[in-house]
Amino acid sequence: MMRQYELVERVQRYKPDVNEALLNKAYVYAMQKHGHQRRASGDPYFSHPLEVAAILTEMHMDEATIAVALLHDTIEDTSATRQEIDELFGPDLGSLVEGLTKLKKLDLVSKKAEQAENLRKLLLAISEDVRVLLVKLADRLHNMRTLDHMPESKRLRIAEETMDIYAPLAGRMGMQGMREELEELAFRYINPEAYRTVTSRLAELSERNRDVIVEIENTLSELFKKYELKASVKGRQKKPWSVFRKMESKALSFEQLSDIFGFRVIVDTVEDCYRALGAIHTTWSMVPGRFKDYISTPKQNDYRSIHTTIVGPSRQRIELQIRTREMNKVAEYGVAVHALYKDTPGKVNAADHAISKETNAYAWLRRTIEQLAEGDNPEDFLENTKLELFQDQVFCFTPKGMLIALPRGATPIDFAYAVHTDVGDTCVGAKVNGRIMPLMTELKNGDEVEIIRSKAQVPPAAWESVVVTGKARAAIRRATKNAIRKQYSGLGARILERAFDRAGKVFSKDGLKPVLHRLARKDVEDVLTAVGRGELASSDVMKAVFPDFKDERVTQAAKPREEGWSKIRNAAGMLFQIPGRASRKDRQVARENGAVPIRGVRGDLPVRFAPEGAVPGDRIIGIMQPGSGITIYPIQSPSLTAFDDQPERWIDVRWDIDEATKERFPARISVVALNAPGSLAEIAQVIAENDANIHTLSMIRTAPDFTEMLIDLEVWDLKHLNRLISQLKENASVSDAHRVNG
Ligand code: MN
Repeated sequence: MMRQYELVERVQRYKPDVNEALLNKAYVYAMQKHGHQRRASGDPYFSHPLEVAAILTEMHMDEATIAVALLHDTIEDTSATRQEIDELFGPDLGSLVEGLTKLKKLDLVSKKAEQAENLRKLLLAISEDVRVLLVKLADRLHNMRTLDHMPESKRLRIAEETMDIYAPLAGRMGMQGMREELEELAFRYINPEAYRTVTSRLAELSERNRDVIVEIENTLSELFKKYELKASVKGRQKKPWSVFRKMESKALSFEQLSDIFGFRVIVDTVEDCYRALGAIHTTWSMVPGRFKDYISTPKQNDYRSIHTTIVGPSRQRIELQIRTREMNKVAEYGVAVHALYKDTPGKVNAADHAISKETNAYAWLRRTIEQLAEGDNPEDFLENTKLELFQDQVFCFTPKGMLIALPRGATPIDFAYAVHTDVGDTCVGAKVNGRIMPLMTELKNGDEVEIIRSKAQVPPAAWESVVVTGKARAAIRRATKNAIRKQYSGLGARILERAFDRAGKVFSKDGLKPVLHRLARKDVEDVLTAVGRGELASSDVMKAVFPDFKDERVTQAAKPREEGWSKIRNAAGMLFQIPGRASRKDRQVARENGAVPIRGVRGDLPVRFAPEGAVPGDRIIGIMQPGSGITIYPIQSPSLTAFDDQPERWIDVRWDIDEATKERFPARISVVALNAPGSLAEIAQVIAENDANIHTLSMIRTAPDFTEMLIDLEVWDLKHLNRLISQLKENASVSDAHRVNG
């Protein structure tokens, strides 16, 4: 195990002014916290954070990052707390360690290749700081190096996750060395057979070609000497995974040297890169289509190099990469290397980057690199590496580990609709991380969301203003529209049933089918909805089905009402009417079926109140007003007699009000007051003190000593109204107060 002083020395080699105290403190603290813990290999647990720190020293990271590496498993696996780390090492370091603790949660989530991209984004979103990500990658690399010690059942999962998520992430951050090693390690576990085959074949070829490779190296070196170029040439066997992938994707033969060996030419300056290229291309012929100049147009991850393939001295194809020493470091260590290697002027210039559009999600890398190019102090680099990436998104999981990406501000309702429209439509509640939470809760990165569903649910229209995703909003709108349509068509069916019944006929939906054309409607539902909306009169439907039907409304009105109708109250106390003298059976049927399930005044049909108003606590009846919805009357309202001869217009409604309803309702009262100075003011005051609003007030009769007035009020409910009336009655200037039609 690496000693404390060895670690400090390693950092000192590339950073002479290293903060030794910090490294020493982190080393001792982590060692003590992990105590006697062991790894699966039997090694002391502390060897793991130490190795992770060592990997980061190879990448020449600053001491804060190295300290975080030492501490990265303490909160999760030991008695250490964030608070303690804050106190000992400062809150900045504490938040980095906590970031790594949060990332651990991800390891528990099942990962499918198809959601790898989102998982990478989640990783970035949770990381918040590029140093967290670098430690996480180093952590993963060490775990992969020691994967043999893990139980076999876990190896494949970890290897696949490495291949799908971590290796590409390292690659995009420009850390080719890290990416390559992760891929090779993962390949061994994911496809052991292919790995063995490719490896042994490569070894064979390498053995057979040993002389050829030395020969090419020498030839190139001599060529550069002739051109007075200082360059080092290194033949390099490609790694099994990249060979295998190339063979798979391009179906290339194993035998071609250029597919297995590459030569890297390292020079001092950018000018030398092009001189070397010139020397090579004037000596041997190049293979068309293989030349790429990533120096004038760097890759998004700042990879810069010249690639070319030539037909070499012995007629074999040779792949070459030409780059400067610094470019090579960037290629190996990517984003990390910027921490300590300040660019020579012009190396990273804005123009180069302007060429490559910011379609790549790694625009932050460009920003940080630009910061570096502009900043005086290269150490600022890591101080300014807050990841701004994907901060406008949150990533949440289903209980089965499916990853759902949502815009920031999304709620469990958005989540439900993102999973599936059906899930959204039937959503009635949600558990977030195992706890029931309000559906308006704003989701956070990494939340696990379980949707509670009910088949009976119709998404409330009010959700539309709560959700942030377009998908949810559109689905809610659609579901609300359907629900309203369904209510109208249910209402229409009931109106027709009653109208047919009244005429002594039996209504059936099938009976409408042959006459759809006569009604100019496309289907039965359409007819029912039109009747429910009041766009189509029930008598017109009657006439369509029974052409010799005479509108009875005329005769009906002529008849004395008592003969034609019976009033019945159903179980809920709702009044409605049935034709003729009702038998007991009629009453029974009416009780069972009488209530049309319109959910009252807050529902989805256009609803108005009768002029005299109606308040919660009143029993109410709705009257269909063709074309304009429903008017609500208190059941005792004398105005209702006007509709006695049109029973199909009567609708049983009920209040659908709960405690959350903060709405006032209209009621009309009559007040008779003494004509004394200030009496009107007193009445107004009583009303105001009772928390009621006056909507309109009209004097309807004035005598020398009295005035009668009608006041339209807005009150909470019947109790509220009654209390107000009795308060008015108690007032000295009021001789009478009562509700109108109430
Ligand atoms: Mn670890």
